[in-house]
Amino acid sequence: MFLETNILNFRIFITCVINLLVMSNKIVIANWKMNPKTPAEARRIYKGIKKGIAKVKGVDTYVCPPFIFLSELSKLGVTLKTRLGVQDAFYEETGAYTGQTSPEMAKAYKAKLTILGHSERRILGEDNKLIGRKLLHAIANGFTAVLCVGESERNEEGDYYTFIREELETALVGVKRGDLKKVIIAYEPIWAIGKRAEEAIDTKALYEMILFIRKVLIEKFGRTPALGVPILYGGSVKENNALEFIEKGGADGLLIGGASLSPEQFIGITKSAALVK
Ligand code: PEP
Repeated sequence: MFLETNILNFRIFITCVINLLVMSNKIVIANWKMNPKTPAEARRIYKGIKKGIAKVKGVDTYVCPPFIFLSELSKLGVTLKTRLGVQDAFYEETGAYTGQTSPEMAKAYKAKLTILGHSERRILGEDNKLIGRKLLHAIANGFTAVLCVGESERNEEGDYYTFIREELETALVGVKRGDLKKVIIAYEPIWAIGKRAEEAIDTKALYEMILFIRKVLIEKFGRTPALGVPILYGGSVKENNALEFIEKGGADGLLIGGASLSPEQFIGITKSAALVK
């Protein structure tokens, strides 16, 4: 099993290099979680982000507010630079599902992307199977699904690789090769979420994990479709450490929690992402 952690084999390395070379825009996603408190504050942050990144090239940016603010923000407009997404989306269109919201509903407010399987939702009881069901429904409705995976701790034996494999393989059951265009993977080690910049993952460990995720995708879907799947990193990304996760860690973009509530921080992170070609 430990063999699995030995992922720096030549074939995968080469495919990842090729992938980086042909990579399109970087992706930076703001996950506001259950913030901010008021619609006025949500508008202020969104406007600030929109203005600050209007001229940034080479990055696709999504803001995922709480559902309750989606309508307000969509009135402020989406652009090719600043798009809207949601933090979760249910697997049915309508029905007796108290508290849920569907992709079909979010679509009316210009949302095109949904985060799925965030660790803060998994803690509340979501499992890989449920997340997979939501993922299939989201992509069938034209959404891009950002599948979050991440271990809660690491050990010497490298068991976390097996854990990540299981998260990926179960949540992606039923996804067809052609559907992979609508899938983004966000690697978010739980132990690195919501901390100070210094406590984020180191870039070597990130690089190895990204290679591993790519390997799992290649095994499951074949080389060409798997190479097109962006793999993002999330976990204590700030303006002062964002660049290294892309440049040295090999991430295709970033998922930002806390720092996305500060337009200055988020704009800085987006500009850092734009520096890596
Ligand atoms: C997150 O929860 O998705 C996240 C990345 O949070 P933070 O940036 O605050 O660590």
